[in-house]
Amino acid sequence: HISITGVSKYFGRHKALDNISLELEPGSVTVILGPSGSGKSTLLRAINHLERVDEGFIQIDGDYIGYRLAGDKLYELKEKEILRQRVNVGYVFQNFNLFPHLTVLENLIEAPIAHKQLNRKQAIEQAYQLLDVVGLRNKADAWSRHLSGGQQQRIAIARALALRPRVMLFDEPTSALDPELVGEVLDVIKKLARSGTTLVVVTHEIGFAREVADNVVFMVDGKIVEQGSSDEVLNHPQHSRTRQFLSKVL
Ligand code: ATP
Ligand code: MG
Repeated sequence: HISITGVSKYFGRHKALDNISLELEPGSVTVILGPSGSGKSTLLRAINHLERVDEGFIQIDGDYIGYRLAGDKLYELKEKEILRQRVNVGYVFQNFNLFPHLTVLENLIEAPIAHKQLNRKQAIEQAYQLLDVVGLRNKADAWSRHLSGGQQQRIAIARALALRPRVMLFDEPTSALDPELVGEVLDVIKKLARSGTTLVVVTHEIGFAREVADNVVFMVDGKIVEQGSSDEVLNHPQHSRTRQFLSKVL
């Protein structure tokens, strides 16, 4: 369960997040929509404590992200503890960011071994299971840099899953892809959705949102303008700003 409570974030005097509150149930799929600069990436980064928030707090299964509660005070975690906490949150970016000098298999076993979750043999076994999930078992020994964009993104998803996160965050995972490669990546994310992984997806793929989102959140200027079921927000938007946005992306 992810609980975002009254979160605000400033960059200098610019308020990038303005009193955001959201509850994400285990196994739910939340799609975040909004125009450029509305704070979508900042919100995802905050969930991972890649941005420190200025007001409010974020909890995953009761744990404060970036902080530890002692008495009635929150203390910021040390870098090492933050890294340990981040293992619970898988993050997939627009630009894959695989290790290009490693093979696909090496990309998938690096993190679980480094974090001492699995030994090498277990990590390799898991890597093949993950390759089956993303449909790329035959690419295990390929160099990452030789894969297509869609394949690289599917491996990036598998790599994030290798740490068995409690939640997966996707920041415009298909926006850097050629149109014909978008579907294969969305199919993998749909499969994760059906498997009960908690997902938060920033995307402009409205068809995808209609099909898999339990909740849709529409943001403008760091604020949530509208949130609800995908049917409510996408088919019956209450706010003119939402309607205006949807008419542009549909
Ligand atoms: P896009 O759709 O273009 O990715 P976004 O909704 O993800 O946009 P953010 O990247 O979260 O928007 O940015 C929100 C606002 O905060 C923007 O005005 C941006 O310029 C500003 N911002 C983001 N990161 C920083 C930073 N590190 N320093 C200063 N300002 C920042
Ligand atoms: Mg962004």
